[in-house]
Amino acid sequence: MTLTANEKTILMNSIRDIHDFPKLGIVFKDITTLLADKEAYALLMRHLHQRYASYNLTHIAGIDARGFIFGAALAQMLNVGFVPIRKKGKLPYTTVSEKYSLEYGFDEVEVHIDAFSNVESPRVLLIDDLIATGGTAFAAANLINKVGAQCVEACFILGLDFLNGQEKMAEIVKIYTVLGVD
Ligand code: AMP
Repeated sequence: MTLTANEKTILMNSIRDIHDFPKLGIVFKDITTLLADKEAYALLMRHLHQRYASYNLTHIAGIDARGFIFGAALAQMLNVGFVPIRKKGKLPYTTVSEKYSLEYGFDEVEVHIDAFSNVESPRVLLIDDLIATGGTAFAAANLINKVGAQCVEACFILGLDFLNGQEKMAEIVKIYTVLGVD
């Protein structure tokens, strides 16, 4: 299902811009207003469900923390597993980690070493709310591959089209962005 221009407008209008958060010059795309709007949230999840129903996925991997919200909901709709990719120091078992730079700082993500080992040939969709510079998602996709799974696509609700994150990401994995921000 392709979203109509009207549906895209409904989704875009449900997302709030917060200027100068978390620091001066950043326009933070606040998806909490989309989540609180049951029609917009359902429209988005229905769209993602329809897109990914035929992908033969085994897991959704969500990026800490907003990727968990969309990823966990989608995993239930698709009847597949959910794997959290977390900020450093949060996962209790043995992890594999990757460092990366953000639009506004540096960070490190981790995944459990055996996160996808409950199935034979894991086929994973990576999901996050937004791709900016692509650093986080690039590190997360590398992690998925490092622990022996195939990252078949990376999905973002929003893509900041004025940064080159999507191009950078597309070099290593197919990407899908629901809404572009220019
Ligand atoms: P990046 O690694 O630069 O692609 O940054 C992506 C991560 O940072 C995602 O987990 C986003 O949730 C968060 N992020 C970066 N920039 C923004 C922004 N302008 N608005 C909301 N979240 C952002």
